[in-house]
Amino acid sequence: MPDSGRLPDLATLLAGVADGQGGSITPPIYQTSLFSFDSFADFEDRMAGRTNQPIYTRVQNPTVAAFEAMMAAAEGAEAAVGFASGMGAISATLMAFLRPGDRVACVEHVYPDTYRFMERILRPFGIAVDYHPLAAFEDDPDLLKGVKVAYLESPTSVVFSVLNLPKVAAHAKRHGVISMIDNSWATPVHQRPVLSGIDIVLHSASKYISGHSDTVAGVVVGSAAQMATIRDLSLPLFGAKLAPFEAWLLIRGLRTLVPRMRQHQDTADLFVDRLSALPFVRRVNSPGANATPGLTGRSGLMSVEFDDSVKVPELADALRHFRLGVSWGGFESLILPASVGLAQAGEFNSMRRFGVSPNLVRLSLGLEAAEDLWADIESALQHSRT
Ligand SMILES: *Cc1c(COP(=O)(O)O)cnc(C)c1O
Repeated sequence: MPDSGRLPDLATLLAGVADGQGGSITPPIYQTSLFSFDSFADFEDRMAGRTNQPIYTRVQNPTVAAFEAMMAAAEGAEAAVGFASGMGAISATLMAFLRPGDRVACVEHVYPDTYRFMERILRPFGIAVDYHPLAAFEDDPDLLKGVKVAYLESPTSVVFSVLNLPKVAAHAKRHGVISMIDNSWATPVHQRPVLSGIDIVLHSASKYISGHSDTVAGVVVGSAAQMATIRDLSLPLFGAKLAPFEAWLLIRGLRTLVPRMRQHQDTADLFVDRLSALPFVRRVNSPGANATPGLTGRSGLMSVEFDDSVKVPELADALRHFRLGVSWGGFESLILPASVGLAQAGEFNSMRRFGVSPNLVRLSLGLEAAEDLWADIESALQHSRT
């Protein structure tokens, strides 16, 4: 059973990991595409795999490597590979391990673009994808029989339901299944799935890891052997590499991740208490510490389902601090009404497929003062109720 409480504090763990040379406390940005060699022999040794000097930034770059080292340390894993986006990391990881004829078991309410990747890329390439309720992953010991990859989120997108990760990891191990989880919501501050036995951890680093809504990036973390497969295959050949400047921003973001997550949690705790007490709130979806084994805290991303007395369009338009928008994990607070997601054009709409109430809204609680955010919601609710 994982006990993240006894691990070193994450901020302490990451101190100094990405320092530069000569006392520089930040690493340089290696803004270069290529690395040249001193001699024919050096060049040949590198190409033959006898040394490991970077050759070309599509595969290796020291600034990116510094970020990858921080992420591996943060998740308690052996290695990490950075990507240009969360979807770059997710697609490259799935494509590194899946072949036509394979089967994926995926959670319901998976991130909408991951759902579209399953339906629009994997399925046409001859890979079967089945979606299962979370309870089936936990309670059906044979669910993963014949499956190649178990694709997990905990909490899931939109409705934020949690999985018992040690239990699912044990089922996956017994059936020889590669288990992968999108850990963007919890971050390694609140959940380190590798310690629960999950093989591979994925992140949209565009969210809490960057923390400032100023870059799109992704990262995958896992065993040295699995990361070597990705670095050999889908990183270079799809080419969705993380850029050195973006990696530098992510290093900066990681250094404040712990205190930012603490403040997001404090604000979220206040919102959960007060929203749950309102008679016209049907549900607050916001798992916190001990909601499931290995989860040690609550992030600032939650959803709230109102009864029909709340008019969501009026609520959204009456808010002053909360902005309307996708994404999350930055300084600013955001609201995303489910009805907007349900209205999104196109055939492959995960919210329509898995079912979400149009009276649900997703809130990303930012770093503004909690009481100011609460006052904003309270007054907007007054304007929006009939
Ligand atoms: C945003 C997001 C992604 C996709 O990440 P990008 O960086 O936008 O490509 C994947 N999973 C979750 C849970 C997300 O919120």
